[in-house]
Amino acid sequence: MIRLQGIVKSFDGNPVLREVDVDIAEGSVTALVGPSGSGKSTLLRCVNLLEVPEAGTLRLGDVQVRFRADARPPRETVQQMRRQTGMVFQNFQLFPHQSALDNVMEGLVTVQKWDRPRARARAMELLEKVGMAAKADAWPATLSGGQQQRVAIARALAPSPRVMLCDEPTSALDPTLAGEVVEVLQQLAAEGMTMLMATHDLRLAASIAQQVIFLEGGTVVEAGAPRQVFTQPRDARTAAFVSTLTQSVLPADWGMNGR
Ligand code: ADP
Ligand code: MG
Repeated sequence: MIRLQGIVKSFDGNPVLREVDVDIAEGSVTALVGPSGSGKSTLLRCVNLLEVPEAGTLRLGDVQVRFRADARPPRETVQQMRRQTGMVFQNFQLFPHQSALDNVMEGLVTVQKWDRPRARARAMELLEKVGMAAKADAWPATLSGGQQQRVAIARALAPSPRVMLCDEPTSALDPTLAGEVVEVLQQLAAEGMTMLMATHDLRLAASIAQQVIFLEGGTVVEAGAPRQVFTQPRDARTAAFVSTLTQSVLPADWGMNGR
């Protein structure tokens, strides 16, 4: 459902993505792993065109765009892409001056032009779904990080995106709070939401993803099923990266290929 081909992106002449190819099937979860600075966030941001690549093509559902260094994609294409994606950030990025409910309603009212009662009903449904209905009137600052992230997930789901882009959704949270966010993400995956997620959390990747992509220096070094990539990496760079992360978090019966 999502196909990135030959994606190239540089900042100030420094290449950050070098001809990246990624294929994501509808209803599947793909985890993007790799060292800090490898281009994970940039790749996610290219999917909803927060960053515009210089070359390559992006297909999302039935919308396709071919990037060129000398022209930006048409505004209409950008809007079509954005409408199909929801994004969740490491640091939640809720609007601090709005209640949880208003955060979730905001886009429906201002972008989608829904009337407020309809937007409110949809937002309450979503807060219910992420276990935050009781905190609908709370301000973000009064919520824990895990609660804020669950509200942020509800907000991203509000316009019914076809794909969720999650950038290190649990990295800012201590393990207990990360757990409640992981549960919500697992539930979404079980319901068939297509997701592309950058994460350092191998346990999250192993529990939720059908595909793991290991990115280093803006290049896809290896892609495969989580168990294969984490326990029997084909490339020495993947093996070196995986060995720096704690492996006790992977399912015990996976074995670690002698390591
Ligand atoms: P990751 O998410 O894997 O840590 P990023 O995609 O954030 O990696 O960054 C990849 C590289 O691109 C880094 O070297 C980073 O400094 C650089 N970079 C990211 N965004 C920008 C930007 N807006 N301007 C300049 N350099 C950037
Ligand atoms: Mg990042």
